[in-house]
Amino acid sequence: MTIPFTESEERVALRESVKALASKYGHAYIAEQARKGEKTTDLWRDFGKHGFLGVNIPEEYGGGGGGMGDLAAVLEEASAAGAPLLMMVVSPAIVGSIITRCGTDEQKKQWLPGIASGEITAAFAITEPDAGSNSHQITTTATRDGDEWVIRGQKTFISGVDEADVMLVVARTADAKTGKLKPALFLMPTDVAGLEKQHIPMEFVAPEKQWTLFFDDVRLPTDALVGDEDGGLWQLFAGLNPERIMGAAMTCGQARYALEKAVDYAKTRKVWKDVIGTHQGIAHPLAKVKIELEQARLLMQKAAALYDAGDDFTAGEYANMAKYAGGEIACNALDVAVQTHGGSGLTTELGLGNQLVAARLGRIAPVSREMILNFVAMHSLGLPKSY
Ligand SMILES: Cc1cc2nc3c(=O)[nH]c(=O)nc-3n(C[C@H](O)[C@H](O)[C@H](O)COP(=O)(O)OP(=O)(O)OC[C@H]3O[C@@H](n4cnc5c(N)ncnc54)[C@H](O)[C@@H]3O)c2cc1C
Repeated sequence: MTIPFTESEERVALRESVKALASKYGHAYIAEQARKGEKTTDLWRDFGKHGFLGVNIPEEYGGGGGGMGDLAAVLEEASAAGAPLLMMVVSPAIVGSIITRCGTDEQKKQWLPGIASGEITAAFAITEPDAGSNSHQITTTATRDGDEWVIRGQKTFISGVDEADVMLVVARTADAKTGKLKPALFLMPTDVAGLEKQHIPMEFVAPEKQWTLFFDDVRLPTDALVGDEDGGLWQLFAGLNPERIMGAAMTCGQARYALEKAVDYAKTRKVWKDVIGTHQGIAHPLAKVKIELEQARLLMQKAAALYDAGDDFTAGEYANMAKYAGGEIACNALDVAVQTHGGSGLTTELGLGNQLVAARLGRIAPVSREMILNFVAMHSLGLPKSY
């Protein structure tokens, strides 16, 4: 019997398998690789070998044939085991979904099996220095020159370019009739001539790095275009709803990891007559995190279920709300976990201090907390647009 609000047996089994594999690596592996400036390739490949990276990719292209709910479950369990894989948000979720929904048969055959197995990693580039949250303002252009596209412009904060084989770049093409610029998507190999990348040093240590990119007349073949040049925004949103659902999955997993560490400590640390978890000053913040975490998980699961059912419009609303709730609970859970540990909370050995800074990412990217509040105010509540 399926009880509403519980997951299928297959999903539960998937979670358990992911948890078992991710726990073999855990936070210690991620932290060590990050400190050495190395990648988490072994874990990534292992996930790929077990079919975890491609659970959402159609079976005919080497994937598991499942949905975003399955992929989100994978990332949540990996994060909860201390091994969040940021590139899962990008490679199978954003790029995999866009190619699956908008790509040609050739593009699907070329890219999806590798994305599913983890042998190909794809990055995604939309953010620009002078546009930021206002992606309508992007100025990277794609111009037709014979049978090639010429890409010119700049991107910033692009994750994982150094470990990616290919990048899905959002550029603008001019409408032949009106001359108005409209967004279009291009697959760009990361070793293409005319692409320069600069590392952005960040204040948290993670294996995935961020990059500023310069496209100096990068030439791409005609078939680099994904989807229709006139397809409009829906093609982009085929990837952005998965991005938000996966952002929520990663942050919910981070919150679970922090909460588990904090609860274990609260049950064992004794400085007065009883363990510190006896004090409501310690127990209540932990209980609050538990409640808000379950709220965020429910939103994420609902958003994924709507997306998998093909209701992109309602999925958009819930994906935004889930992403908001996930970002909040990751920050709150890490803060409470550090506080519960006292001085030990900020030791390098425990690693929660670094994660506290990293969790802030959930409030900023891929879409900021403020932009989600704008969206909900306007679209869910019908309030006037403020910008
Ligand atoms: C670690 C990291 C990884 C990233 N990875 C990628 C990636 O792989 N690919 C990619 O394309 N991008 C990536 N990004 C970029 C990310 O999506 C942007 O940082 C984010 O969209 C916000 O843009 P911004 O940083 O330019 O902030 P801005 O747009 O400059 O905003 C600054 C502040 O103003 C607020 N603000 C802006 N407009 C409004 C408004 N109308 N109302 C209220 N408040 C407003 C914002 O919420 C924010 O608090 C990454 C960023 C980080 C930090």
